[in-house]
Amino acid sequence: MIKLSFGLDKKDGKIYHISEVRNGLDCNCICPHCKQDLIACNNGTKQEYHFRHYIEECKYALETALHLFAKEVIDKHKKIRVPQFSVNSYIERIEVLPEKDMYFEKIELESLKFKGIIDKPLLTISYPLQIMVNC
Ligand SMILES: [Zn+2]
Repeated sequence: MIKLSFGLDKKDGKIYHISEVRNGLDCNCICPHCKQDLIACNNGTKQEYHFRHYIEECKYALETALHLFAKEVIDKHKKIRVPQFSVNSYIERIEVLPEKDMYFEKIELESLKFKGIIDKPLLTISYPLQIMVNC
């Protein structure tokens, strides 16, 4: 079973990895899904470091945590690496090279809508792009 590695800080609302917080309830974190207090178990040598719920475990903590973490990574780096895909326009069909980095000038995390720029040799296009983060 994969253990919960991320918690949501009560004060700043950001997602933190288990290695970044204090041990026990001093981690000051809540579950990203059910908002219960979390206990950081990061002080021993016998178990993998992880968070556990203070009262009762919930089913979607890990999924919600990974979703929030992915959004923070995209927002921080303002880019994603995408596999080959094609974009159709009214004028022409544009093929995009494989494993191309896409850089974003504007990111709206709440709605998961991105305005992206794809740079190709001799061509730059700009259009809104929506990305769904699935875990
Ligand atoms: Zn929970």
